[in-house]
Amino acid sequence: MIYLDNAATTQVHKEVIDEMLPYFSAEYANPSELYGFATGARRAMNQARKYIAELINADKTEIYFTSGGTEADNTVLKGTAYALSDKGRHIITTLIEHHAITKCCSDLEKAGFEITYIPVDANGFVNVSAIKSAIRKDTILISVMMANNEIGTIQPIKEIGQLSREHGILFHTDAVQAYGNIPIDVNDMNIDMLSASAHKCHGPKGIGMLYIKSGIKISPFIVGGRQERKMRAGTENIPAIVGFGKAARICSSKLYHNMEYVSLLRDHMIERVTDEIEYVRLNGDAVNRLPGNVNFSFACLNGEAVQIQLDLKGICCSTGSACNAGKQTMSHVIKALNVEPEYAYGNVRFTLSDYNTMEEIDYTVDCMKEIIKKLRSMSPQFKEYAKRMQL
Ligand code: PLP
Repeated sequence: MIYLDNAATTQVHKEVIDEMLPYFSAEYANPSELYGFATGARRAMNQARKYIAELINADKTEIYFTSGGTEADNTVLKGTAYALSDKGRHIITTLIEHHAITKCCSDLEKAGFEITYIPVDANGFVNVSAIKSAIRKDTILISVMMANNEIGTIQPIKEIGQLSREHGILFHTDAVQAYGNIPIDVNDMNIDMLSASAHKCHGPKGIGMLYIKSGIKISPFIVGGRQERKMRAGTENIPAIVGFGKAARICSSKLYHNMEYVSLLRDHMIERVTDEIEYVRLNGDAVNRLPGNVNFSFACLNGEAVQIQLDLKGICCSTGSACNAGKQTMSHVIKALNVEPEYAYGNVRFTLSDYNTMEEIDYTVDCMKEIIKKLRSMSPQFKEYAKRMQL
């Protein structure tokens, strides 16, 4: 099996599992308890919080554990809306956010909030002046993802943060795909709130965090006990928190090495595919993109068909296009790029990690060449398109 779907989830490092195991058995205490037995769990949680904070240059008191990126995003959107609704009811976001953001926005619209969705250019960049023009007196939050989960484009976060600061508006970034994969400094980048998730950086699933800059107050999303300084009730998932901490530490020690190695695999794959397969489009920016992200659209094909054929060769990848009940659906991200109609449905995403090798990439490209040739040979639409292109 060749696993090229690291944006969906990653393999948990063995060192992470080893670090977690004692907290399922010997160290099972509830960290909120006062007796000595709970000290080990409490200490481990605080240590993990410190490692997780260090990776983004935050303080450990600014980290709130959640069940993952989705919960962190929901907390920011709904928590800011509830806390600041007296000040304003307008939120700015982009057309290419993850559904954890867009679905919250739809809920808030139903509750009487107004959302402005900023478009992106053909490479997936949001225009900072468009955000500036959208700012109103009643704008309470700007939420722009750091790096897109489908096409990997990295946004000008520092500039957007600066703009938000100048207007006294809270700025949140969904960094679920960026955390542990590229350098982040919340202070330098003017970030007020940031979402991250452990399973995207070789940690366990079901644990994530929300960074909230010291001094900022939003409403909690989950209420009950006093855990996480009353920002997120519920007994803490200590084994997962410990695993997240270990994953953050490993990311921190290998960040620049991994970025260099994984980018090399990515660029090799992009070069070979664009050189050796015709009528293909690289989605996302060629330079400002996540080290592990490769996203192509193949003219006149359906991404799902390519994905299934690659699966038969033992290769795991993903697509934003699907064919349900005979109807083709397009990813909202690819739609926002305004690609030519022939390229709308044929998108395939490969997301790489340091577990991958150059041999795996070469094997995948060889398989793709064969699969795409076969699928296109059966497509009258492609034959007509190729004829048109050759004229
Ligand atoms: N935000 C982005 C950009 C993501 O890619 C994902 C997951 O793919 C999420 C949020 C949701 O994170 P989680 O799976 O931890 O809930």
